Amino acid sequence: MTTVRCDDARGDCGDWRSRAACRGSEPETFFPTAAGGPELARAEAAAKRICTGCPVRTECLAWAMEVLPFGIAGGLSEAERAERRRATRTPRRRGLGRGVAMAKAHRASPGRDAGLAALAAGGDRTQVAIDCGVSRRTVDRWAAALVAEAPAGGAR
Ligand code: SF4
Repeated sequence: MTTVRCDDARGDCGDWRSRAACRGSEPETFFPTAAGGPELARAEAAAKRICTGCPVRTECLAWAMEVLPFGIAGGLSEAERAERRRATRTPRRRGLGRGVAMAKAHRASPGRDAGLAALAAGGDRTQVAIDCGVSRRTVDRWAAALVAEAPAGGAR
């Protein structure tokens, strides 16, 4: 689901992402901007059709279950992955508030730091999302945080 930069002439870097059926797709296909309703359902269905024939769907879903809170990946929507996480988490993890821990880890991730740096340097938000392997909505939140954290009269 994320674009992989690859210098191999065959386009195969050994990373499962290099074999993804969604390579070259617009990020919006897998990170719909619709908030809900039939429009979101249509967007999710379109992305899932691509996932259906993807040779790395298993790898993608495993990755997405661990790190991706938004968008369609591995053939599942964010709501479906969240439901699957809830159904499979252990009582101990439930006690620790895993969702909160994951959110904190996500906030403090190296990808976020790199994304914030790219945004501060004027990077295009969609490209930052691709480069960091996160949704455009996530990048929008990072950008909002940058503005909120900027000193009065600061940039962007
Ligand atoms: S399963 Fe779907 S989102 Fe994941 S790599 Fe394949 S096409 Fe992309």
